[in-house]
Amino acid sequence: METLRKKLLALDGKSYKAYKNIEGRYTFPNFVLNIDHVQGDPFATPSRINVQVATSHAAFPDDLWQTTVRRIALEDFIARAVRQGIHKHVKGRRGSGGSGKMHISTSGQQVLVRNAVFVSPDVIEARLTLGLPAQGRRAAGREAVAMFMDELPEVIDAALYHANLDSQQVRQHVHSIEDQDVLRHWLQDAGLVAFVADGALLPRASGVDDRPLCENALPFMAPGPLTHTVILPNSGEIRGLGIGHGVTLIVGGGFHGKSTLLHALERGVYNHIPGDGRERVATVENAVKVRAEDGRAISRVNISPFIDHLPFGRDTVSFSTENASGSTSQAANIIEALECGTQLLLIDEDTSATNFMIRDERMQALVADDKEPITPLIHRVRDLYQQCGVSSVIVMGGSGDYFDVADTVIMLDAYQPHDVTTQARALARSIVPATTPGKAFDEPVSRRPGVDVLSPARANREVKINTRGLNDLLYGEHHIDLSQVEQLIDIGQTRSMGLMIYYFAQHYAATGENLIQGLQKVMTDAQQQGLDIFSPYKVGDLALPRLHELAAAINRIREGQWQ
Ligand code: ADP
Ligand code: MG
Repeated sequence: METLRKKLLALDGKSYKAYKNIEGRYTFPNFVLNIDHVQGDPFATPSRINVQVATSHAAFPDDLWQTTVRRIALEDFIARAVRQGIHKHVKGRRGSGGSGKMHISTSGQQVLVRNAVFVSPDVIEARLTLGLPAQGRRAAGREAVAMFMDELPEVIDAALYHANLDSQQVRQHVHSIEDQDVLRHWLQDAGLVAFVADGALLPRASGVDDRPLCENALPFMAPGPLTHTVILPNSGEIRGLGIGHGVTLIVGGGFHGKSTLLHALERGVYNHIPGDGRERVATVENAVKVRAEDGRAISRVNISPFIDHLPFGRDTVSFSTENASGSTSQAANIIEALECGTQLLLIDEDTSATNFMIRDERMQALVADDKEPITPLIHRVRDLYQQCGVSSVIVMGGSGDYFDVADTVIMLDAYQPHDVTTQARALARSIVPATTPGKAFDEPVSRRPGVDVLSPARANREVKINTRGLNDLLYGEHHIDLSQVEQLIDIGQTRSMGLMIYYFAQHYAATGENLIQGLQKVMTDAQQQGLDIFSPYKVGDLALPRLHELAAAINRIREGQWQ
């Protein structure tokens, strides 16, 4: 510690480059500090440090981290505590550029696997970035002394020692995350695809703010006939709406909360922090939101179960385009979700192509079936379930045609769900079969991105991977637009995806397997060895994506040949 102080005082007023000399390891009274990387100038990406505390010294009760899910929850809690500590103890701006800023990557309303904090039997490690202070372009060593000697120890004391945290709150966090995990696994045993507990608060503060709507939010209350109960290890028995296998329709007037419920189900693949309102909403972990996404690129996807005999005899068994339509993009999104092994499709009329969803009798009378390439979802949604075991939850306020194919119909009335299956059945008609029966879903085209698709090179750089925002991934020459991939929720996932595509390219792309088999291996490596295997340096800003979002990124690459 004193060595570092001396170094910093000595470089005060010198060229910023003099900071390079502080890289290394320093022992403080309560922790060990590693300065892993020093930035080149005050405007560059900030310097990377990590802090290690002996686990025995941090003294978190063993039971809070000795299973994987509990450890992930505790790591999440500690990272948030570090962030709060930074907020409280760090002055912030201390000169030019990023001078004086300290930062740790944390999740928002969800709890994700990240690499900012690690709890292991020996040490607890926290990874931060820090803007080494400058006056103009000169090193401000004295300001740096204040950051390392005063601020950092306060942050670490406040967040990495159990004794300084609210022990009730830590335990509640860990217990809540564990319950959510159990709830999600229970779905499989209970024969359900989703669950929404009574009392859940689904609406969000705004369309761009994922925090709960605080005022006038009506708590969810399951309709009697669809109620299930489950016993969770920490909260005991809870009650709520169970959504079963098959086709579930969500109907109701405009602005009655249909999309809000579907959004909650989309996010139900993730665990949420206590107080979010959705911490007892769970969907099967492979649930995929599917929407229309006109303009996206498609590479060799078998969309023939939905779209066939296109004008000029265009192939739809191995369909590629630079510019998909609403219906072709939605069809490809479904087929790609099946390729990833989904059990549940989540579809909202608000973001669907109408001609993909329905084709009513009068339109069938006017435009003969053989003139219409699209077999709408309404004619295929039962096949999806019967042939592939894939269930659907569909929001549809605008057409009663779907009554004919639904197993369950839930009506939202002023945000409250009602079971209207019986009434909807009474209105249903026998399904008019399409004159040409649709093609089977069970023949996926085995496809694989070629070397040029996966090349990370740009200009004179061998590897150039960059994340500009949550939805904006630059991979080599490719600009990947993820704005319509709605279950991608954290920029840390986007960063990981860039690195994981490169890892896939190096390890599994050329070994003769198809895309998904290769990506499954990447996911297994991530789960077993951690996110660090993807990055050449020690960073703390990665979060684990799902297989589906990782595949979605590769599926949206525009250039290059697929095999
Ligand atoms: P729909 O899809 O049926 O048209 P939305 O789900 O978009 O309706 O919801 C309409 C509005 O109602 C949104 O502003 C949403 O935040 C709000 N809302 C949804 N559920 C609730 C609830 N349980 N309590 C209060 N407001 C809600
Ligand atoms: Mg809606």
